[in-house]
Amino acid sequence: MGADLVMLGPPGAGKGTQAARLTAAYGIVHIATGDIFRAQAQLETPMGRRVKLFLDRGELVPDELAIHIIRERLSQPDARHGFVLDGFPRTVPQAEALDALLLELDRPLDAVLYLEVDRDALLERLRQRAAIERRSDDRPDVIAHRIDVYREQTAPLIEYYRRQDKLKVIDGGQPPERVAEAIDRILQSLGVAKTRMP
Ligand code: AMP
Repeated sequence: MGADLVMLGPPGAGKGTQAARLTAAYGIVHIATGDIFRAQAQLETPMGRRVKLFLDRGELVPDELAIHIIRERLSQPDARHGFVLDGFPRTVPQAEALDALLLELDRPLDAVLYLEVDRDALLERLRQRAAIERRSDDRPDVIAHRIDVYREQTAPLIEYYRRQDKLKVIDGGQPPERVAEAIDRILQSLGVAKTRMP
């Protein structure tokens, strides 16, 4: 059996790293809205230029756009066996839209994996990533803004999913291997079997 998962946590918490490992270990698709928007922003189209404005400022793109992308992506055949969403939902309206969509598809989320990391550790990690990846939104002022945007718009999802009894809190300050083990234990307790060698 696959699993339908959401990775929740601030920028720099390690969501992408852990989601990529889940893909390898459990054979579920990794859907990163940030990657999708970065690809769009490279295109010289009106939509690409519009998306780029939000990205470069560290602002969220409008909910309708993010929801549209997820709706399309989840309808692809490879998402049938399970998915891990990385960077979506980012707002309460996005979470509500996802619930409605999954209800339509009759496949409720199995769990929301919340990587908890304190602000200082995040700033440090994002600075390191800036040196390696050269993302246009990894500039120091934009980094700080993205963390504020997370706190204001995304952090309410912690309570949202806790109320649904879906939230699994993981110490994201640990080394990635430890985080991966903690996630494996959670998935095991949910009865999710690995399909490939990690
Ligand atoms: P990420 O790689 O997840 O940090 O996302 C990079 C950027 O893409 C964010 O700062 C937003 O501008 C945009 N983005 C990614 N996911 C979403 C989303 N679910 N809703 C709105 N904007 C998003």
